[in-house]
Amino acid sequence: MTYLTVSICGRDLSDFETQLETAVKAGAEMLELRLDYLAEPRAATASAMVTAARQTRLPVIATCRDGAEGGQGKWDCARRTDILTAAIAAGADFADCEFRNFTSNGSRKAIEDALQKNSRCRLILSAHDFNKPFDDIELLYDSILSICPTAIPKIVYTARHINDCFAAFDLLHNKDKNQDAIVLCMGAVGQISRILAKKLGAFLTFAAMDEQQASAPGQIPIEKMKGMYRWDAIHAETELFGIIGDPVGHSLSPAIHNAGFAKDHLNAIYLPLWVQNDKDGFDAFMENALSRPWMNFGGFSVTLPHKTHALDFAEIKGEYVENLAATIGAVNTLKVGFNSLLSAYNTDYAGAMDALTCTLGIDRHGLHNKQVAVIGAGGVARAVVAGLVDAAAHVTIYNRTAAKGKALAEEFRCHYTSLETLERLQADIVVNCTSIGMHPNADASPLPGGLFKPEMAAFDTVYTPLNTRFLKEARAAGATCVNGAEMFIRQAMAQYRIFTGKEPDEETFRRVVGEKLGK
Ligand code: NAP
Repeated sequence: MTYLTVSICGRDLSDFETQLETAVKAGAEMLELRLDYLAEPRAATASAMVTAARQTRLPVIATCRDGAEGGQGKWDCARRTDILTAAIAAGADFADCEFRNFTSNGSRKAIEDALQKNSRCRLILSAHDFNKPFDDIELLYDSILSICPTAIPKIVYTARHINDCFAAFDLLHNKDKNQDAIVLCMGAVGQISRILAKKLGAFLTFAAMDEQQASAPGQIPIEKMKGMYRWDAIHAETELFGIIGDPVGHSLSPAIHNAGFAKDHLNAIYLPLWVQNDKDGFDAFMENALSRPWMNFGGFSVTLPHKTHALDFAEIKGEYVENLAATIGAVNTLKVGFNSLLSAYNTDYAGAMDALTCTLGIDRHGLHNKQVAVIGAGGVARAVVAGLVDAAAHVTIYNRTAAKGKALAEEFRCHYTSLETLERLQADIVVNCTSIGMHPNADASPLPGGLFKPEMAAFDTVYTPLNTRFLKEARAAGATCVNGAEMFIRQAMAQYRIFTGKEPDEETFRRVVGEKLGK
C-alpha cells in the first residue's frame, strides 16, 4: 500500500486539532505530525499530539525536522531529539529523523533507546535537497540501509526539470519490492512523482490539506489527488497519459481526460507534464518516457511550444505521422503503441472542423465552396486553414503581419489580404484565429460588430472568455455562433479516441469544461 499522507503543521494544540479534523475528513490515509512547527517546542505537547492523532486510527509519523533540511523551528539537535523521542514514547507508528543527523551527532543513541521501548515504531531515515537532485541516489539509498537495515529510506530532492524525476522513478522501480521506500521530487516539475509514487510502489506520498497549506514545494491538495488524479484507481499497471507543454498548469486537459477515464472505468490516469528547455528538453523527455516501458506511457497531448518538436521527433524516428499533421507542421497527439512505437496526429484541425460542421449541421463536404475569412496566421490559423482547404472551402487569410499572412496563404494555395480590408468582408463563415478578445482584453474584437450578417457563421477560437465580444456582436446580428470551447472539447474528444479507441462521453467533457470555464 502507498499511504496518502497529510502533514499536520499545528503551532499549538488547538491549531493541531483543527488541522487533524480537516485531514481526516479529506481522506488522509496516514498523518505526519510536523512537530517542528510548534510555537513552543515542548515534549508534553508533542506527546499530546501523538495521543490525539492515534485516536483517528490512522498511522502516525512523528517528524521534528531540522531547519537545515526544511524544518521550521530553529532548535538545536538536543531539543529536536527530545521532542521526537517523546513522540515515540507516546506511541507514534513511525519516527522520521534526518539521515545526516542520525549518523553525525548525538541523536542516534537517544532515538534507538526510544525505539527499543516502543518496538512498534519504525524509523524513517530521510535526506532532502531543496536545490537539486542528489548526485547518486542509489548510493544514498544503499548507505541508509547499510546504517540501519530496518529503516525506511526517504529521499526527497528538488527536480529542476521534469527529466530529473526519472532517477526517482528508476530507484523505486529497481528496489527490492519488499523494501519500503519513499522517493519524491519537490517543485512544480516534480509534482508527477507525488502522483506516480503509488504506481511505483512507494511507501507513501504527501498531499497538502489545500492549495495554501503545502509543507513542501509541489505538494498537490488531497482533494485534487483523490478527485482529478484518481488516487484510489492507481496501481502498478495503470497506463499513463499526459499533456506535454511549457507551461501546463493552466491546461484543462488533465481535468477532461481524467474525468473521461473515470467515466469509462479505465485503468489510466492523465498527468500535467511540464517539459521545459524547448526541443532538447522535449527530446530527452520522450527518450526517458519511451525507454521505460514499465511506466506504461500510452500517449501524450502536446501543446505550446512543443507541437513542432513532436512532429520532428516522430519524423526523425521514422514513426507514423498523419498526413495533415505533417502538412500543418504540428503534432498535438502522440500515441504510444506496441514496442514503444509512436503515431503522431493533429486533432486541432479536426476539433475546429467538427466544431464548425456540427454547429452548422453539415458534414465536411458541406464546407465545399464556402467563402471563409480566417483572421490570423499563427498556429491555430494553420490548423484551421489546413482543415478548410482540405474540405475545399475558399479561404481568405487576413493578418496584421503581411509576410506571415502571405506565406500561409501561399503554402495552402488560398488568398491573403490585409486586416484593413475586413471592412469589405463578404463571407459565409468568419473565423477569429488571433488572440484578440482573449482575457484580460475581453473588450476587444478583431472585427467591427456592424459587419456581421444573419446568414453568416462566426467562429471564435478564443475560449477565455467563452462569450467573446466577437461572438456577442455576431449573435446580436443574428449570425450562427461557434465558440472556442467547442473546438477545444472536440480536439480533446478526438485525442481520447486515439488514446483509448473508445468514443468519449461528450456530456462528461462538456461538464468539466463548463465547470472550469463557466457556462
Ligand atoms: P499565435 O501563433 O501567437 O498567433 C497569434 C495570431 O494573432 C497572429 O496571427 C497574430 O498576428 C495575431 N494577433 C495577435 N495580437 C494581435 C493584435 N493585437 N492585432 C492583430 N493581430 C494580432 O497564437 P495561436 O497559437 O495561433 O493562438 C491564437 C488564439 O487561438 C489564442 O488566443 C488561443 O486562445 C486560441 N486557441 C484556441 C484553441 C482551441 O482549442 N479553441 C487552441 C489553441 C489556441 P501577427 O502574425 O501579426 O503577429
